[in-house]
Amino acid sequence: MVIGDFSGRSRLDACPGALQVHAAADGGLARVRVPGGRLTVPQLRELAGAAATWGTGVIELTSRANVQVRGLGEETGFAARMAEAGLLPSLTHERIRNVLASPLTGCDARGVLDVGPLVADLDRRLCARPVLAGLPGRFLFALDDGRGDVAWLGPDAGILPDGTGEAALILAGADSGLRVPVTSAVTALLAAAEAFLAELTARETHAWRISELSDGAELVAARVRAALDTGSAGPVRLRPPAEPYRAGRPSTAGEPVGAVGQPDGRVALGVAVPLGRLTSAQAELLADLASHGEVRLTPWRGVVLPGLARAGLLRAAARLAEAGLVTDPGSPWIGVTACAGRPGCAKSLADVRADAARATVSHRGGGTAATTGAGPGAPIGSDAPDGTGPGSRAEPEGGTPRAVAPHVADSPRTGTLPVHWAGCERRCGRPRGRVADVVATGDGYRVDLDGQSLTCADIEETTAAVAAARGET
Ligand code: SF4
Repeated sequence: MVIGDFSGRSRLDACPGALQVHAAADGGLARVRVPGGRLTVPQLRELAGAAATWGTGVIELTSRANVQVRGLGEETGFAARMAEAGLLPSLTHERIRNVLASPLTGCDARGVLDVGPLVADLDRRLCARPVLAGLPGRFLFALDDGRGDVAWLGPDAGILPDGTGEAALILAGADSGLRVPVTSAVTALLAAAEAFLAELTARETHAWRISELSDGAELVAARVRAALDTGSAGPVRLRPPAEPYRAGRPSTAGEPVGAVGQPDGRVALGVAVPLGRLTSAQAELLADLASHGEVRLTPWRGVVLPGLARAGLLRAAARLAEAGLVTDPGSPWIGVTACAGRPGCAKSLADVRADAARATVSHRGGGTAATTGAGPGAPIGSDAPDGTGPGSRAEPEGGTPRAVAPHVADSPRTGTLPVHWAGCERRCGRPRGRVADVVATGDGYRVDLDGQSLTCADIEETTAAVAAARGET
């Protein structure tokens, strides 16, 4: 089934869905939208089962906190199984349910608003508006809880609450200057989506993102303001975008990896997934450990397990490490991403994922226990049965809840510079901001950073160049 013809620019928006499967070099590729990255434990088990039954057995995590499964044949029960699991609530709107949310919202004290309920409200109202089925599959919403982790990941329409009961409306990845009551945040986001469609109609043009329209953000903002001023959304105020919320502010918030104390005494555990590839067995393990009943996917292709009891945290970390997952914020796996590469993409000049894994594991022991025999990650602590002893990243019993220092995407700290491996110059999936690009050339790799390039003949040279770029040598 093909859903709609919402052509971007001069050609069809080819974003895959659960129903509109993309024919990749290694078989069918289906993408399942997961608004806010929120999966119930049964849903994660269904995904794991479907990937194992009809796909390659791997669930790929995307930079929009969605999931995709590769290697599907022509006739599968994949979509039906997703629908039964509640992951396909709308046949007409499935590909536009791209909603980021702060993964730790409601878990710790860094946010000013728990945006979890807003995610559900936005998804429900999005699917209830027939006109919004016309959005391109590239259109992206973001609900930031005030900590500034997802507002700057380039959403077309997003909110950033400021703690006063208002939220900045983000358009095309930048502060629009509009301030709306948080109680009207979802209304404002829907108005922005409708305004974008109206702008496309008025110009008789096609575009996938607001940023592709000249003066797109300004014109959409004007339409949003007019729509809200005549509605019941409450007062809309216009403010000059305040520093540091001007356009182009780099993302300085990052991937949660390690234990984060919750005010209720429990712990949210951030788990990095090397190269965003989650095997069905790893997914089943996460489901087993998610005692709170929920798993949150992150835009950094990782996972958060909220609401874990402190007792048993060390054991959980050990099991995750044995399975090849990462809970150590200092792991060299943090910040390493790769495009599909061979064999999934016919354009690829190399098996970039295998090479990225080889380079990461071979340099300063980046392998997890599954690949190197190493023990559980140090952040959870190793000198107390529950993993909360001295040196632990989880707070001591009775201590003030605090977050571990998260990975900072564009931090100058040694070893944390994001590295993106790509099979060709297109560099699909490249993170925003300052990144070391490792691009396959057919004769090896080229490492690009800050306008400088180094050509490497083999994986050893590439590994050394990447390490140097990350400041590890
Ligand atoms: S960057 Fe090139 S090789 Fe990698 S997925 Fe995109 S098109 Fe394919």
